[in-house]
Amino acid sequence: MTTVTERQHSNYLDDFKNLLGADQVLSEGRKISRYLRDFSWYSPILENALADTSVDAVVRPGSIDELTAVVALAARHRVPITLRGAGTGNYGQSLPLEQGIVVDIKGVSGILELSEGRVSVLPGTVMKSIETAANAAGQELAVMPSTYRVATASGFISGGSGGLGASAHGDLWSNNILAVELITVEETPRTIRLEGDDVNLVLHMYGTVGVLTRIEMRLVPMHTYEANLVTFDDFDQCCQFGWELVDSDIHARLASLQQAPIGSMMTPISHEIPDGAHVALVWSDVDHARALSELAEVYSGTVKPWPQGATHITQFPYSHTILWSRKAEPDSSWLQCEYATGDKERFLEQVHAVTERYNGVFLQHIEINTTPSGQVRCMGIPPLVNLSDHEASLDELIAYCTGLGISLLNPHSYVVEEGGFVGDTGRMLALKQDVDPFGILNPGKLGKSFFSSRATTVAAADRDMRAPEQLSKD
Ligand SMILES: Cc1cc2nc3c(=O)[nH]c(=O)nc-3n(C[C@H](O)[C@H](O)[C@H](O)COP(=O)(O)OP(=O)(O)OC[C@H]3O[C@@H](n4cnc5c(N)ncnc54)[C@H](O)[C@@H]3O)c2cc1C
Repeated sequence: MTTVTERQHSNYLDDFKNLLGADQVLSEGRKISRYLRDFSWYSPILENALADTSVDAVVRPGSIDELTAVVALAARHRVPITLRGAGTGNYGQSLPLEQGIVVDIKGVSGILELSEGRVSVLPGTVMKSIETAANAAGQELAVMPSTYRVATASGFISGGSGGLGASAHGDLWSNNILAVELITVEETPRTIRLEGDDVNLVLHMYGTVGVLTRIEMRLVPMHTYEANLVTFDDFDQCCQFGWELVDSDIHARLASLQQAPIGSMMTPISHEIPDGAHVALVWSDVDHARALSELAEVYSGTVKPWPQGATHITQFPYSHTILWSRKAEPDSSWLQCEYATGDKERFLEQVHAVTERYNGVFLQHIEINTTPSGQVRCMGIPPLVNLSDHEASLDELIAYCTGLGISLLNPHSYVVEEGGFVGDTGRMLALKQDVDPFGILNPGKLGKSFFSSRATTVAAADRDMRAPEQLSKD
């Protein structure tokens, strides 16, 4: 594999300007700095590590033909190329580590085909517009991120993992992405189509294994949903409720459990949550309202309708929870983990043990999902507050959780493998070598050490704590 150091820098930007027009090649100004930020500031470690990221230019193709020409040109010049959707990733996925060009994919958007159970889209299509089109045909996306209002299709499958719908249909790896097409990073790009399990080779790979040009997602019959808060005095009861909800016939698109005091940090709804109460955020089929109330009653939960006029329920779960906790506790941090799958007693024991040891520090936030075989799967995205020496305490906490059999996914690293979602590394690397022979696709994200060679200046003053949805209004 040729290294990026062999690339030729000479005036290559002029070639991109000739290709796309000067106004679609940004090489200076405020607009550029926006492309060098994402939501990696959730982690103080990543915020430090990525503080001095820079780029030669941002290029904005408006069609697949232009995208293909951009990729061909980057290959010809051996210049690093990093794709970017809406920039809502939490691990610096779309931030270039070796400069070069960032390719804004948002201009390459549109729905190509929509049929029963399947929608095919261009990479930069915003998830919400796909959901809207599916709804018009009586269907909905099997899974979409809580950032669906701004996140792109290719950004979601390359940088995300699951989200709304995962409680009923599982995550990205649950056959919810039916096929993808990608182009190779060569002077004459080839198109490769992946279907079935082969799709897994590109999921959550931070755009290091090909430039996605077409994504085909699973649709399911549409439901009419209502949002509710279910409050509990006891977190163990809240966990049992969440588990049984997802294991029942009640159709829920979201079952998000928040241990106190997280509910009090969610200011638009906090007035509905009694002091010290734990809360389940539930987005479920209106026709199952009675069953939901009956289930809540079993676990001494109180169901309350979503407060009128409050921010939508989808803007609180998954990584949105961390946005609320960081606003309330600016020095807090976070973690991602997975509890015992399909084993309710073990799951409850794990939650109990962590709360006992890290009470008031490891705030339990658990998304209850399912696996393709229908097992209940509990994903933790806990805010961590009052961690004194962050890195050392984090190591200790991770060791403790691992000892309990909880799997940790490290959100403090931009390295793909450390995120914990890589499947068949051998096949993935073979595909990578075929697709990216010059090694210029988002270089540095696949396991190459980066921390030792970069400055560590915190960019906290630049931190923009708006939600992804608000950023789209820029
Ligand atoms: C508040 C908040 C809530 C979130 N909730 C969720 C959630 O519910 N579920 C979830 O999974 N994630 C969630 N995330 C993470 C993030 O929003 C998702 O990963 C999102 O879908 C990323 O989409 P994006 O368009 O912003 O991609 P970006 O962040 O711009 O890019 C992500 C990755 O995709 C790559 N990429 C983009 N386009 C292409 C392409 N055409 N070909 C190859 N690679 C490409 C980029 O290089 C990058 O590595 C959340 C983040 C925040 C900040």
